Amino acid sequence: MLRLRLLMKEKGISALLVTRQENVRYLTGFTGSSGSVLVTGGRSSLITDFRYRLQSRREASGIAVVIQKTDWARAVRDTAARVGADTLWFDESSLTLDRIKKLRQPGLRLKGYRDLVGELRQRKDEQELASIRKAIARAEGSFRELKKYIRPGAVERELGLKLEFLMREKGSRKAAFDPIVASGRNGAMPHASVSDRRIKQGDLVTIDFGAEADGYFCDITRTLSVGKPTPRQREIHDLVLRAQQAAIATARPGVPCKSVDKAARELITAAGQGKHFGHATGHGAGLMVHEGPSLSALSREKVGQGMVFTVEPGVYIPGWGGVRIEDMVYITENGAKVLTTLPKELESLKSL
Ligand code: ZN
Ligand code: ZN
Repeated sequence: MLRLRLLMKEKGISALLVTRQENVRYLTGFTGSSGSVLVTGGRSSLITDFRYRLQSRREASGIAVVIQKTDWARAVRDTAARVGADTLWFDESSLTLDRIKKLRQPGLRLKGYRDLVGELRQRKDEQELASIRKAIARAEGSFRELKKYIRPGAVERELGLKLEFLMREKGSRKAAFDPIVASGRNGAMPHASVSDRRIKQGDLVTIDFGAEADGYFCDITRTLSVGKPTPRQREIHDLVLRAQQAAIATARPGVPCKSVDKAARELITAAGQGKHFGHATGHGAGLMVHEGPSLSALSREKVGQGMVFTVEPGVYIPGWGGVRIEDMVYITENGAKVLTTLPKELESLKSL
């Protein structure tokens, strides 16, 4: 809250309405699905509804809790009036037009602004890092167990379900997203999810998954081969791995995020596979599995100490399949520290 107030002062923002669920959690500790925070220089109020009367007081200590009597907009307007705010800045990336319209009333100016709390969230503190490591441990332990089920005849959908079950069994309250298990030609679709396809001998299988811990998510991808890989499979996997390592080596405080993307992309392009790598090299992860910064050619942000993001180049060849390798890294003053511990060389699972 202190960092946010300093940032607000710097930007000349006297009253900020925080509406994105993850931001509310970040600022107050409140985990309910319905809550907004009105932050001013002196005080802050958490606005929620009857369902969260007890939970909000337990989780969000040290902040005034307002239980809305009628509708949300009225509770926000009343709270703004009570703290003497005549201008309310809101996060234009999270508030819907419908809700903005409902907030309108004479004497209260509304100003859209970028997601300031989301920007603060990009830099993780020790406790957040520990939670992310915990999520990674849950995901990795589950992946290691899953491997014994990956063999010819196994169905992608069942492997995805199994992986999710394992992660939840280890304490993850939910999966970061529906796990992706893309085998054979399905591997050419970066976000293939799962299908009813059965794994065949000789397939590459791309598995993209993430677990949760204390509200924080991780995001990991590995590509395995079922049986002995062909020279072509080895070649593409090796290219993606080299691209990933080049990107990780580039990531250090002060470097533009787009340079991290460029490091991976140049290598893949030089090998003639540029057109088969059509997504960004990485994204921040934390309370949301996809958050800032974005590591893409269009990114205008810089890598900063304390950031946690993924590095995940891939090559997707229609009719052939694909390879993606995704790790989570933490930015220290000396550069990127890889948080993921699973091996990265092409692992070939023995067939039955
Ligand atoms: Zn992923
Ligand atoms: Zn990712």
